[in-house]
Parts: sequence; C-alpha cells; structure tokens
Amino acid sequence: MKRLRIAIIGAGIAGLTTARALQLHGFRVRVYEQAAALGEVGAGLTISPNATHVLNALGLAPVLERIGMRPERGGVKHWRSGETLVEILRGNEMLQRYGAAYFQVHRADLHEALAGTVAAADPQAIVLARRVVGLRSVAGNVTQLSFASGSDETADLVIGADGLRSRVRELLFGAEQPRFTGYIAFRGLVPMDSLPSEIVVPSSCISIGPGRTFTRYLLRGGRLLNYVGLSERDDWREEGWSISCSAAEVLGDYEGWYEDMRRIVRATPAGASFKWALFDRDPLPEWTRDAVALIGDAAHPMLPFLGQGAAMGIEDAWVLARAFADSASIPEALRRYVEARQQRTHWVMQKSRETGLSYHRADPDNYAGQSHQSAESLGLMSYNPLTVAL
Ligand code: FAD
Repeated sequence: MKRLRIAIIGAGIAGLTTARALQLHGFRVRVYEQAAALGEVGAGLTISPNATHVLNALGLAPVLERIGMRPERGGVKHWRSGETLVEILRGNEMLQRYGAAYFQVHRADLHEALAGTVAAADPQAIVLARRVVGLRSVAGNVTQLSFASGSDETADLVIGADGLRSRVRELLFGAEQPRFTGYIAFRGLVPMDSLPSEIVVPSSCISIGPGRTFTRYLLRGGRLLNYVGLSERDDWREEGWSISCSAAEVLGDYEGWYEDMRRIVRATPAGASFKWALFDRDPLPEWTRDAVALIGDAAHPMLPFLGQGAAMGIEDAWVLARAFADSASIPEALRRYVEARQQRTHWVMQKSRETGLSYHRADPDNYAGQSHQSAESLGLMSYNPLTVAL
C-alpha cells in the first residue's frame, strides 16, 4: 500500500490536509491544483477542537498559536438592541473539555501553512496549473487523469478534493447542479485600528435578527476584524471568495440593526467586502467508485451556520489516511473511510441547514441559552479523528 501512486485533485484545505496526513502515514502524494498560484484567498474560518486535533497531529500546533485567535468568550446578540442574549465560554474551558483548542484563523494563513508543510516534506508534491477534466480507468485498476492543458498522468488512487463544484464528483456520478439556498453571505475584513476596541466585546459573536445573522470575530493577532453576514435574498446567485460588493449594499440588507454592527460594516475599506451566494447539495449516497474517492466539500458541501465545512474536510483527511495506513487493499481502506465518515458529515449537513433556520426564524426578543443551537450544543466538538473507531 505504501507504494501507491496517490493523486489528490484540489489544493484547498481538504486536499492539502489529506496530502500531509497521507505523507505522515508514509505515502507519497501528488496534489493537482487548477490555479496557477496559491494565493491569499478567503477570510475567517473557525477551527473547532474536532479539527484542531488533526492540525496538531500535522505538527501545526505552534503555527495555530501564531496565526490563530483563541477567543475567551463568544456570545449571541440581539439585532436591534445589540444586547447580549447568550454568553458562550470558549478559551481554556474548551481546551480542557476537548483536549484541543478552538481557533479563528484567516483561511489564507492556514492554507499557506498547510501548503508549506506538504511542500517541505516533498517539494514535488503540489503541482499547479493542472485542471482535471477527465478520468478513465486503464489496465489493472489504474486511473488516467487528463488535464485541461492536454497532458495526463496515471495514479492508483484518486482523491477528489475539488470543492463544491467538483469535477471529479461529476465524472463519477454525473452532472447535478448545486442548489441555491436563498442565502447570500457578505464577508468583510476591517482593520481594527479604524474601530474602537469596545465594539468587539465579546471578541467573537453572532447577532440574530429576522432573516439575517451577522457573525464577527478577530483575526491576525486582533488587528483584523472578520465578519460574515448571512442574509436571505433571491436576486443574485454568484459564488466565490473574491466577488466584491460595497459596504452600502451590506448595510442595505441590515436596515435597523444596532449601531455597532453598522459601524463595523461602514469601516470596511473599499475592496474588502465580498458577497457569495450560498449553494448546497443533498447528501450523496456514494463517495467512491473503483479507486476514486471524494473528500471535503466535493463529498459533503454544507451551509456555514455551524462553521464546520472546513473542519469536516480536515476530519475526513486524517480518517482517510488512517484507513489507508491500516488496510490491506484500496477497496478495504475506502470502505472503512466512507463507513467512518458518511453518517457524521451527512448529519452535520442537515444540522447546518436546521441551524440556519433556527437563527433566522428565532424570536430574538425571547431568545434563551437553551434554544441556542451550535456546533458545541450538538456535541460536534467531542469527535476526535485521531481516535474514532475505524
Ligand atoms: P475548496 O476550498 O473549494 O478547494 C477546492 C480546490 O480544488 C480549490 O483550490 C480549487 O481551485 C481546486 N479545484 C477545483 N476544481 C479543480 C479541478 N478540476 N482540477 C484541479 N483543481 C481543482 N468552514 C469552517 O470550518 N469554518 C468556518 O468558519 C467556515 N465559514 C465559512 C463561511 C462562508 C461564507 C462559507 C461560504 C464557507 C465557510 N466554511 C467554513 C466552509 C469552508 O470554507 C469550506 O467547507 C472549505 O473551504 C472547503 O474546502 P475544500 O478543500 O473541500 O474545497
């Protein structure tokens, strides 16, 4: 098994974590990424303890301490008054409870760290400007990958980590378009030196109002504030990390919201607010065909209300590497991977949808801690990909 030629399609968070996890288990990988360069893409990501276990195992604990913020407290606020409705303890309490910390990081910083550790172990591992367009079984269970450039490669195992609009998924199971969910995500990054520090108490919070939420937290040593506004709208349907919008457009969707929230949005520098129409898919009953498997958003894209999309891809990665290190054949390893992961991720997909509705349909005037649904209240953080049964 250790001699398998493994091709991972996509150098996102899931693909790179998979690459490093497999390297650490003694495998050699090639990650084929369509982009010509790995750049500064994305904004904030929450990394909850269930995912931190894996990043720690990859040797990234010191990196997380450097690039990540560990909020002591979180909260839920009322959309009109800004009053804190629920307080949430994070910080050391979480570390003690789960044995790993809860971090908020800039996606670009985590991505850079993952790419760096994969390339440090094997400088040839990440191959850029390779967009996979075709897969074909050739003799002896080998898969031939064809790239848009006209070149091709062969591999014994192919892992599709190519995101929500996965080409690998389409090649395995046919074209089926993701469905627009009716939500737009507004994302912004605001330098904290343009805001008073008391505006971010507690340092991490979600505000809930009719048909809208607004989450904000700090990044990069507290120098940057990240926000995500999720708003119900049906008039616009593009997605991507880098589609600009104006602060005025965000404010238009948040009429009547409390002044601190609106002040944060007004302080967003030109070119630092983005919008993203959210799409999702129904759970996919099969994730593998022959020696090709899906991982991360390619297998189970989900709405961001639980902040678990990247975390699920990170969990997948370690479990898949464990399954390969501990199995005698590709079919056995893939079966164990899917059995260990499918039920959990499908449940989280469903709970992410429900959590969105529970926030957007809540009555903020009568909101109590008991009704607050989150990754923690659902028990998602108790999962440890390093020890879960395979
Ligand atoms: P992607 O990041 O989409 O990576 C796929 C990679 O594959 C890309 O590099 C792409 O260029 C490449 N690729 C695609 N097609 C091809 C091809 N044909 N050939 C070669 N390469 C290809 N998750 C969290 O855990 N916490 C959060 O707080 C959080 N907040 C979010 C907020 C918003 C608004 C959104 C939209 C998502 C959020 N997520 C969060 C989810 C998280 O961003 C995704 O789940 C995660 O980034 C998916 O990673 P991935 O590697 O599976 O896919």
